[in-house]
Parts: sequence; structure tokens; C-alpha cells
Amino acid sequence: MQFVNYDGLKDNMLRITDILDKTQAYLPPEDQEMIEKAYIFSASVHQGQLRLSGEPYLTHPMEVAGMLADMKLDAATIITGLLHDTVEDTLTTTAQIEAAFGKDVAFLVDGLTKISKITLGSQEERQAENFRKMILAMSADLRILVVRLADRIHNMRTLNYQPPDKQKYIATETLDLYAPLANRLGINWMKVELEDLSFRYLENDAYSELSRRIEKKQEQRDQYTAEVKGVIAKEIAKHGLKGEVEGRAKHFYSIYMKMQNQRIDFDEVYDLIAFRIVLDTDKDRDCYEALSIVHALWKPVPGRFKDRIAMPKANGYRSLHTTVIGPYGERVEIQIRTREMHEWAEEGIAAHWRYKEKRANLGTEDQQIMKLRELLDVQQEVDNPREFMANLKLALFPDEVYVFTPNGDVQAFPKGATPLDFAYSIHTDVGHQCIGAKVNRSIVPLKYELQNGDTVEIITQTGHHPGKDWLKWAVTSRARSKIKNWIKTEERKRSIEIGREILDREFKKHSLKLSQLLKSEDLKKLYEEHNVNSPDDVMALVGYGRLSAKHIVNRFLPEIAPKTEEAFIDKPARKAKSAPSLGISLTGIEDVLVKMARCCDPIPGDEIVGYISRGRGITIHTVQCTNVQELDPERVIEVSWNIKDKQTYSVDIRVVCKDKKGVIADVSSVISAMDINISHAEVETTPELQAICNFRIDVHDLKQFNQVVAAVKKVKCVISIERLKKS
Ligand code: MN
Repeated sequence: MQFVNYDGLKDNMLRITDILDKTQAYLPPEDQEMIEKAYIFSASVHQGQLRLSGEPYLTHPMEVAGMLADMKLDAATIITGLLHDTVEDTLTTTAQIEAAFGKDVAFLVDGLTKISKITLGSQEERQAENFRKMILAMSADLRILVVRLADRIHNMRTLNYQPPDKQKYIATETLDLYAPLANRLGINWMKVELEDLSFRYLENDAYSELSRRIEKKQEQRDQYTAEVKGVIAKEIAKHGLKGEVEGRAKHFYSIYMKMQNQRIDFDEVYDLIAFRIVLDTDKDRDCYEALSIVHALWKPVPGRFKDRIAMPKANGYRSLHTTVIGPYGERVEIQIRTREMHEWAEEGIAAHWRYKEKRANLGTEDQQIMKLRELLDVQQEVDNPREFMANLKLALFPDEVYVFTPNGDVQAFPKGATPLDFAYSIHTDVGHQCIGAKVNRSIVPLKYELQNGDTVEIITQTGHHPGKDWLKWAVTSRARSKIKNWIKTEERKRSIEIGREILDREFKKHSLKLSQLLKSEDLKKLYEEHNVNSPDDVMALVGYGRLSAKHIVNRFLPEIAPKTEEAFIDKPARKAKSAPSLGISLTGIEDVLVKMARCCDPIPGDEIVGYISRGRGITIHTVQCTNVQELDPERVIEVSWNIKDKQTYSVDIRVVCKDKKGVIADVSSVISAMDINISHAEVETTPELQAICNFRIDVHDLKQFNQVVAAVKKVKCVISIERLKKS
């Protein structure tokens, strides 16, 4: 097994004899002659032209024709490969081509000339129009598309000779259009190579990093691959099936996309190697037998079996797919197919053309070709360029969703994207201030998954900002990085604020002033010790719990008291001061640095304290919370509520009632009638025939909570109600 390395391209030029050697196996002598004639023609008109690499221009059509010969395509296609740039780049006319090589070749070359004159540009309408022209030219004969793909592959292989801006442009176009087209034609090797080459030029750092990491454990992987292959091959043979087992590494781009889509690290990509059983048979049922052999050998992972024989992909691809738990408890992906399915999987339409000649009756594959043509042809009917783009993209990228802006512009998102992704794609501020969206005119929550064809309108509110759950809902890297950035900036602002208050208080406690620190030499020492360079940085460290305020103040005290004593003194001091002193004011649950403790669920109105958890901001507990007593008193701070928004806080209650039918409904209807949400309810009956109901309710503050308690108490049959503490 070997990862493809595109660096080691041969510098020795492909010769016409090499191409003729390839075609001789399947083409008659008269075709061979025409190919040679095309070579001489191409060589003479391209005479003197050089590529950016400094090589004679002829190397390019030769390489293209060589690829087409490897795919065993017909003579007209190979001749077109040799001539594809003659009308575009030399004085040759289509009429000359037709006179020398016939109508068929002239038509194909003309199609390629048309495509090469079209540049996609960026403005949407122009781009749509040009895309349309390009697709039309290619759909006239699918061979035009295949030659164009071979042309693009060679251009991508030699892209390093282009200036950087052109590299990016060509690579983007390749990834957007040509790789998906190769996929639609079912030509897997072209798709894979086009994707990897584009990836290399578009995300160079990620590409290098990935290739470095893949190389690192190559030897280990080779060993593993050989072992798994051996086990499968032996088992298959034992059951009398003939065939070959392959283990190959997935291509870079697919690994990269997997990491991106699932937001995982390289080490978490378990299936770098995909195994494949190619059976020497023409019976589908042998594939199913091989599948049962594999499943008997290793346990299948539920939900991972895909029958692509019974349900082929749109591009005609057929195979069985399964994932099993391999010899080391790892997941192993295995594909099972016949030789013919395999050829189709790798070469797609090119394989089809070959089999077409051999066979009288054509089954499913012909339908696949019809579908492909439909995809390319249907576009002719469309006048609206926007609609055209939407249709085309839908056909080319089934893993994306296409939605409309209120103006009718098309936007593409990965499957699973939400209104947040849409909002951030418009503008960062639209994202930050997004409070909801209208999809097809009805209001949807932020976590709504966008569907194809949705018209999306974002609702914003000035002053609104990202919430806690946003990172769970945003899918696109743009949205995610903007949200993360906001949180980071906010965390810093808030930790400076909190740090200053904590320090100020700590200094005052020792009758010192914070300004003494700011003027002192000790500040510079702190900078050095903690690798920071401003007073704000120091405050932030304190606020974020990375540096203790006490530790700083101690530098200004004549002597350091022993630790135990200090703790002893500190605790009563805190209690005595708790009434008059001003603490950190909490702005609400969206406060990035502040979290409500889950053990005591504080709600506004409760007496509370804050605890600086190292590197994680402040956790708020109720004063009564038993956990607080066990916390390091040095890191306990005073806090007070300062809630402006009407936010709700969850709190658990336990209601004990006489177990009478309907009593639970009575209790919950009383709570609901107060417009209070019940997020969780649980009932159990005791042997004494009492019903114990646990509710989790969302209230604004203690006052409202007490109203709930009073109202519930009035319900008939209720024996008691209490607020639950989990500690
Ligand atoms: Mn070319």
C-alpha cells in the first residue's frame, strides 16, 4: 500500500510509441495510424510553443492522450486528446481538423475549444451563465468531458509552474467543478487525484501536516494492512471464493474532510485504510456470501452495512459496504464487489463504454448513463441562472444543502447547517446578534437544520450576543471560529473586570491600595513570571483563576503568615463582611466566566458566593450549599446578583402528595398556569401510597419560586413541597 505521491512526476517525456503500445491491445491498425497522424499534426502546429515548465508544449497533449489510452477509450477520444488545444492555441481551424480527422473528432475538439474559452469568473450571474455554457459544451458528448478531465489532471499535476494566484484559482475551480464531475461520471481515480491536488494548493499547511503525520506510522500501517488482508484472503479461499483482497489508504482529501466534518483530530480517524474484496465472479450473490464470511470472522458494527448492489449510487457505483470490529478491536471498513463492479467503481463511464461493446443487452449501467445525461441536459431548459446554479450544485454535491436568501440568492452549506451558519455567512455582526430565523416565513429555532430549497431570513436584535449552545449548533468553520472568538474576547474582558475587583478587595483588606501594585517594580516581576506584559493581563490571570490575588498582595506585606492560620482567619472575615461589601456583580447566565453550580442551582434572590475555579472562571453556589464549606476559602469571593434580562434559571423541586389520580396533572397545571416551564418531571409511588413528584422548573428568581411554592401548597392532596439539593 502506498500513498500517492505527486512529486515524483517523470521528467522523461511520454512518446507516441508509448501511447501506441497502450492502444495496440484494443484498437485496430487503421485507428493506430490515425492516432499517429494526429500526433504528427499536433507536433507540427504546436512547434516552438513551450509550457511554463520550459518543456515543449507537445508534452501536454501527449500526457492527456496517454491517460485516455490507459482508460482504453476509442480512437476519436485519444485523437481529440492530442488535438484538444490546437484550435484554441494555434492557427488551426475546426474545418482543417474535420478535413483531416473527420466530423466526430472535429465535433469533440470544437467542444473542448468552447470550454477553454469560458472562464468562470466570480460574479454570480456571469458565473452561472458560464457554468451553463461549459456544461452544455460537455454534455454534447460525454467524451468531451472525459478529455477535459484528463486535460485538467495534467494541468493540476504541473500547477507548481503557475503563479500563486492562478494556482488558487485553478485549484478552486477544480474542486468546485471538475472533481464532482469526475465523481458523477464514476471515474474515481480522477476524482481522488483532482481533490488531493486541489487540496494541496488550497490548504497547503493542512496538506503538509497531514502527509507528515501519515508518513510517520507508515511501516506499522503496512504491517497491519498485510495482516488483515491475509486473514480475509485465507477465509475467502476456504469457502471456495476466488478473488483479491486490497488494503489501501484513503486519499488525503477524504481524511481531511472527515476531520473537518466530524471535528476530530487525525488520531481519531480510525479508518485510514479501507479494505476491499474484489471477487472473480459475475454473480452478485457471491458478494453477499463474502459478506457473511467477513461478518462471521469479525463482528459487524450495527448500522454500517450499505447495500450498494441493490441500491447503486447515482453515478452507477455498486458494492457492498460494511464496517466490522477488527482483530485489535478497531473499526475496519470493507467493500465487497465483483471485478466488473470494481472496474466501474474506478473508471466509471470509461468502463461502461468498454463493456458496451462486449455485451448485447445493457442493464442498469445504461440507465445510469441516462441519468447522467439528464443531469447535464436538463440544464438547457433553464433560463434563470440562479435556478440553474442551484440545480447544478444540487446534482454535483449531494452532501450540501442549498438555501435561498430573501432576495433569491443561492447559498451552499454543509448538511446539518443551521440558521447560525447562515447568519455568520452574511456578516459577523448578523451572526452575533442573531436571535432566530424565519424559514419559508415561519419562525424556527436556532438549532433548526436547513433543508434544500429553504428561504432563510435571519432575525437579529441589537446588543444580543452568542449563547452557550451556539457551538453545538454551528457547523461551518466560519461560524464556529467567529463564535469562539467572541467567547474568547468576552472571557478576557470579563476576567479583567473580575480580576480587578478581586485584587482591589484583597488590597483593601490589608489597608493597601491597588494603585501601589501598578506603580511598583513587582508588577514587572509578575510580567516576567507569567509571561504577560500589561496590567490588564495580570488582572485577567487573577479573574480567570490562574493567579491568586493573595499571592500578589503577599509581596506587599512585611511577612507572610503561615498558611493554616491564614485560612483560619479568612473564613470568619468573609462571613462578617458579606453583608456590606460589594462583590462581583453577575450579569446573568450568559456571563461567559460565570457558571451556576449544578449542586445547588442558585437563582436570583438566593444568597450566593462565588468560587474561582482554576482556569475556568467563577462558579456560583448558594451560601447554604454544603459543597462550599469544603472549598478552598482563599478562592471564595463575594458576589451579588445584578440581573436585568428576564432570564430563567432551572431549579429542582420535590412535591409529595397523596397518591390520587390526577394529582400530578393538578400540580403541573398550577405551575404551567404561572407561565413556568417544566423541563423534567418524574413520579414514583411509595409503599405508603404517596406520590413523590420531582419537577425541574425554570424560574426568573426566588420571588417567583416562592410564588410557585405557595400555589402548589394550595393544591388539594399536596402534603409537602421542597427545593431539592443534590449535595
Ligand atoms: Mn490542455
